[in-house]
Amino acid sequence: MARDAALRAQYLQALGIEQWQLRRAAPAASEAWQQLATEVRGCVRCGLHATRTQTVFGVGNPSAELLVVGEAPGADEDRQGEPFVGRAGQLLNSMLRAMRTPRETVYIANLLKCRPPGNRDPAPEEVACCQPYLQRQIGLLAPRLMLAVGRIAAQNLLATDTPISKLRGVVHRYGAASTPLIVTYHPAYLLRSPTEKRKSWADLRLVCGELARLRALPRSP
Ligand code: URA
Repeated sequence: MARDAALRAQYLQALGIEQWQLRRAAPAASEAWQQLATEVRGCVRCGLHATRTQTVFGVGNPSAELLVVGEAPGADEDRQGEPFVGRAGQLLNSMLRAMRTPRETVYIANLLKCRPPGNRDPAPEEVACCQPYLQRQIGLLAPRLMLAVGRIAAQNLLATDTPISKLRGVVHRYGAASTPLIVTYHPAYLLRSPTEKRKSWADLRLVCGELARLRALPRSP
């Protein structure tokens, strides 16, 4: 097989045909992802480890341009080990499709990797214990843009208690890399308040415009 590929490469080179290769994450990066996933799987930093079925690390394309950050796993996610797989996840998938960035092209993670019992809001100490994992995920991904869905994700990422209605509609900056970050409503909230979907569509249009603008710039390493 390898010999065939080498012969083919020589042949194409002799014909002056430029060859393209699929981009793959560098081995060092994939080791770092594995190491991080292993650490998260065994995490006992806060009390949530005692009630979880399993941790919910994150899912998606490790070269994604867009990182979606939610709050915490719910019952479905705790059972399946993947973020946004319940009803809110179905709506998130539709939102992503509407932006022409389907689920498999982006990366999806939560602020917390374990389910708070009864779907209560994350406690500040739980966020403090878990946020370093998300920060490492962001460091490995180096996304062009982050989309914080819901008040809890937005306020914690931006270290503010400004209401979500005031955080929407502008491009914020996150972390040392000043990654652009846009805020929108949580899909679970949109399921309860469908009239707000119009506003969330405006947020998604902002995401599309910002992604298009950022794609014209070189990507940070
Ligand atoms: N809500 C979230 O914020 N994250 C999930 O993974 C599921 C529901």
